[in-house]
Amino acid sequence: MHNTFIMAGVMGWPVAHSRSPLIHNHWIQQHKCKGAYGLFPVEPGHLDAAIQGIRALGLAGCNITIPHKVDAMKYMDWVDPMALRIGAINTIVRQTDGALHGFNNDGFGYLQSLQEAQPNWRAETGPVAVLGAGGASRAIVVSLIESGATEIRLLNRTRSKADALVQEFGAPVTAFDWSQRHEALAGVALLVNTTSLGMHGQPGLDIDLAQLPETALVSDAIYVPLETPLLQAARLRGNTTVNGLGMLLHQARPAFKAWFGVMPEVSTELRQTIVASL
Ligand code: NAP
Repeated sequence: MHNTFIMAGVMGWPVAHSRSPLIHNHWIQQHKCKGAYGLFPVEPGHLDAAIQGIRALGLAGCNITIPHKVDAMKYMDWVDPMALRIGAINTIVRQTDGALHGFNNDGFGYLQSLQEAQPNWRAETGPVAVLGAGGASRAIVVSLIESGATEIRLLNRTRSKADALVQEFGAPVTAFDWSQRHEALAGVALLVNTTSLGMHGQPGLDIDLAQLPETALVSDAIYVPLETPLLQAARLRGNTTVNGLGMLLHQARPAFKAWFGVMPEVSTELRQTIVASL
């Protein structure tokens, strides 16, 4: 355990809504670390200076959130291969020599959330349908490929973005038109929503689950609300469902380990603390 006071935080714009301080400060208290985790509102034009500030201020590192996840990569001294593939970072770790290393733990968090729901879940069990082709989709698709998924059906409203991911990620990924989302569910072992549809204040996802096997796992990256209309419909027809809270909580663990030296767990108490804040 370190003796110095360790500081980290999250840079974003806007950032006030971030749950990361609640998560990390919970672990700081639980593990009796000397340190704190804060919110850093960083306007887009100030990202370079803010990242150089990590070194200048001696922070252990930082989380990076919207809209900086892609831009922040260019200020790193080294980027983890997984983050390079995803094309964005969500965690910066300052090394003892001052070098800044970038990571993306969103895919790790996602896989952990699936394993929490189904401990013997395996990516190679069967085809996966992924709805959406934005930032969350990239992290989830890369993590599924790395875990051995053999067929990923990608469906996005803007077809060209799905095609671009097929070009980039290759063989396991195939693109379909958004209008094919109902029949693309036939035979899948996992359905993932990475679009913002179903989020609080947004319309629900318009999808017919008739073709979806009852054995399929259904997950949603959204965590406000905890049960999206998609997850509710899936649960009512007997599918096991996974909301986006596990992804959010688990992505924070490797960052905490890197900064504070302890790999923390996602306890019921932490989960309740975050749920109460939603
Ligand atoms: P993003 O990069 O902006 O991507 C948004 C995606 O939603 C795109 O594929 C977009 O399709 C699609 N979409 C938006 N409106 C749509 C509509 N009316 N009809 C059909 N598709 C629509 O956003 P993101 O960062 O990937 O985030 C997506 C969701 O994941 C958000 O709800 C976010 O809260 C959640 N998320 C959760 C976590 C977690 O830790 N649990 C982490 C990251 C993100 P087009 O390409 O056609 O625009």
